[in-house]
Amino acid sequence: MKKPKAIVIGSGFGGLAAAIRLSCKGYDVEVFEKLDMPGGRAYVHKQDGFTFDAGPTIITAPQLLEELWALCGKKMSDDITLKAMEPFYRLRFDDGSWFDYSGDEETMRREIARFNPADLAGYDRFVKAADQACQLGFEELGGVAFNSLSDLLAAVPSMLRMKAWESLYTLVARHISDPKLRIVFSFHPLLIGGNPFSVTRVYSLINTLERRWGVHWSMGGTGQLIKGLVGLLNARGVNVRCNASVTRINVENGRACGVTLENGERHDADIVISNGDPAWTYKNLVSREHRTHWTDRKIEKSKYSMSLFVWYFGTRKRYEDVPHHMIMLGPRYRELLDDIFKKHHLADDFSLYLHRPSASDPSVAPEGHDAFYVLAPVPHLGSNTDWKSRAEPFRQLVQSYLEKTVLPNLGREIVTSKLMTPQDFHDRLWSYKGAAFGLEPILLQSASFRFHNRSEDVDSLYMVGAGTHPGAGVPGVLMSAKAMSTVVPNV
Ligand SMILES: Cc1cc2nc3c(=O)[nH]c(=O)nc-3n(C[C@H](O)[C@H](O)[C@H](O)COP(=O)(O)OP(=O)(O)OC[C@H]3O[C@@H](n4cnc5c(N)ncnc54)[C@H](O)[C@@H]3O)c2cc1C
Repeated sequence: MKKPKAIVIGSGFGGLAAAIRLSCKGYDVEVFEKLDMPGGRAYVHKQDGFTFDAGPTIITAPQLLEELWALCGKKMSDDITLKAMEPFYRLRFDDGSWFDYSGDEETMRREIARFNPADLAGYDRFVKAADQACQLGFEELGGVAFNSLSDLLAAVPSMLRMKAWESLYTLVARHISDPKLRIVFSFHPLLIGGNPFSVTRVYSLINTLERRWGVHWSMGGTGQLIKGLVGLLNARGVNVRCNASVTRINVENGRACGVTLENGERHDADIVISNGDPAWTYKNLVSREHRTHWTDRKIEKSKYSMSLFVWYFGTRKRYEDVPHHMIMLGPRYRELLDDIFKKHHLADDFSLYLHRPSASDPSVAPEGHDAFYVLAPVPHLGSNTDWKSRAEPFRQLVQSYLEKTVLPNLGREIVTSKLMTPQDFHDRLWSYKGAAFGLEPILLQSASFRFHNRSEDVDSLYMVGAGTHPGAGVPGVLMSAKAMSTVVPNV
């Protein structure tokens, strides 16, 4: 019997996980990727002897990756070495003080007590709420496809119990009074494109994910995980074809029946799965006449996550005092987030995430050198920023802040440099409005209200990745592939 054919558009973590799951289900799978290498946001830039992971660096819930290896009858530890981070990361405040966020309970309590011992009791209550959110939001609802009204109705009691309408910051502020500690326990959603003042408190589950399963670094870089997943696919005879942009999803009688590539090639399939940004996919790959749900108007009116300005650079010296992961908070918190998410205004101040993988892994930089990236959350392209002219002045602002704080004389030490702006998210990754994390994760764009895994508009068309439930982040997109695999036809 000929196997049914599945075409996966895109090879981000979500697309690769989807391809593995479909192949294991019995589909004949082919993956088409626009870029010259797989990985999507987890692309790897190799430059002047340095290895720069373009995007994800913090690996949480590694069991979701192990599951993919196990599905293929293999062990992840044979291909990948994960290194547990301790502390997980440092949060540095604008006045130079810092909080080391740890997986060790005693260290964590000591750190909290350094800022405000009276907040220890509130921290315990916060942890309880986060554990409850993890149980309901991650373990029970994370892998649900939310394709039907009954999925939504079944989730309502859990959402009510979790007071899902409250923001994460409201939850944190109820239990913790110190202004800096409030930031420490509320910043996490920024890692997946959410504003702590607008995301539902369900996102406190990230705190539990990290505490329970650790924060890890994949030795050699996150790109090793992508390489490992592609290896699993190749061993199953699945090809990931790069430099192959899909420009149309072919629809006949309301059913997706294949794709057309930029070079005009047509490929037929029984099902099509898009790992591209769903807003872009619907608007640009599916003709208007096939869309009654995801109309251009609905796509335009939806709210999109922030974007990112990312600067990758290598230095000829090592900055031994700088930890692997550091969040550097600027002078403003709520006001800066208002600028980014609500006013769509590019401010002159910023908060940064500074990544120094060579702190844990010498393989990513030449001997005696350091590899870095620094990212700043910035508004998506709705800000009308002309990144062609703003990128270099913005980079200089970031460089001068780093020189004044943790990387003295940085300008003198740089040996290689590369930038990624919101315009690149748009042009390279085909992300609507250049958003770095797809739809903004607010309550009314979560679960059933996000792009469904099974298309609302076209039969045999499916979606995986950050734009679908449960959302952005490596664990989120791996779970979206799992949810998708529950709604495709069995072979
Ligand atoms: C800078 C940065 C740092 C991050 N850090 C972390 C972190 O530390 N930890 C974490 O868990 N998460 C992190 N994230 C989030 C995480 O990386 C993403 O949510 C996740 O990787 C997205 O995966 P995805 O499956 O949605 O696909 P994507 O990575 O978005 O990949 C989609 C792929 O589809 C391809 N594609 C799109 N359209 C087409 C088409 N028409 N034809 C062919 N190919 C197409 C694109 O080229 C791309 O390769 C970070 C994100 C960024 C940007």
